[in-house]
Amino acid sequence: MERVFTKDDLIKDLKKLGVKSGDLLHLKVSMRYIGKVDGGAKTLLDALLEVVGPEGTLISDAFVSVFALPLTDEQKEQIADDHTPSYAGAFANEMIKHPDMFRSKHPIQKFAAIGKMAQELCEAHTPESGGYELLEKMCELDAVNLTIGKKVAGVGTTHVAIDLLGLKRKLPNVGTMYKDHDGDIKLAKVNWNGGCAHGFPKFIPLYHERGAVIGYDKIGEANGLYTSMKKTLEIEMDVLKENPQFFLCDDKACYSCQMTWDHSPKKKIRFYFHWLKKNFKSLSFSRLKVLRKANS
Ligand SMILES: [Zn+2]
Repeated sequence: MERVFTKDDLIKDLKKLGVKSGDLLHLKVSMRYIGKVDGGAKTLLDALLEVVGPEGTLISDAFVSVFALPLTDEQKEQIADDHTPSYAGAFANEMIKHPDMFRSKHPIQKFAAIGKMAQELCEAHTPESGGYELLEKMCELDAVNLTIGKKVAGVGTTHVAIDLLGLKRKLPNVGTMYKDHDGDIKLAKVNWNGGCAHGFPKFIPLYHERGAVIGYDKIGEANGLYTSMKKTLEIEMDVLKENPQFFLCDDKACYSCQMTWDHSPKKKIRFYFHWLKKNFKSLSFSRLKVLRKANS
């Protein structure tokens, strides 16, 4: 029979991993890899809140969707505010529903937070802030990253390292409408770097080798990775100073990595050859048009 994990099971796993009272936690959670949880994402949230206690803080990526510009009339009606659902999954959306939740004042990179530092960190992350500035602040505060899933896509600090080193790329022409603190409806455009999630996991072995990993163990059936944000940032800064291409993925058909960064290879013929080879079966001109529009 399939095992069902309870709140007590998850509390035990979290404590075994190293999560403790008073932690300032940056969370990236993929619920489906944990297995069957009695009560779903809410049970994991309750377990985390119990372990970090009243002195602790939970912060999850809970970003909102953007669209290629110019927006359609229908997209113009989708106005982001503090309660807009996120594409980041069931756990992030459970946090958004919590009565004690604070949301970043940033129009798009809207982190969701609960706990002691939640209000302060969210209010400091404004429309004028960089997309990942809140994570930089968390590194200074000696926060910990907790990733729960199958594979670790990244721990968040790579974005901070890229920004601190001034690495630049051609920004995609995307955005969304949002409501600002005066209640005015405005357009927010993406003005931060982002990056390809397939390249960031290249850092994971280095986090292990160079002492950034505090715990690596099961949460339910998923892998839990618990890392010092200050240390993962230090490792990323060291590596990227030497080799800025380190975070680019190995897929020669990846537009983001191959073509958009100032330090991308930018070998056009090679890129389009690999892109066509990869997409030949599903090739449609509308897809190519969407790719071009989003990156123009
Ligand atoms: Zn890539």
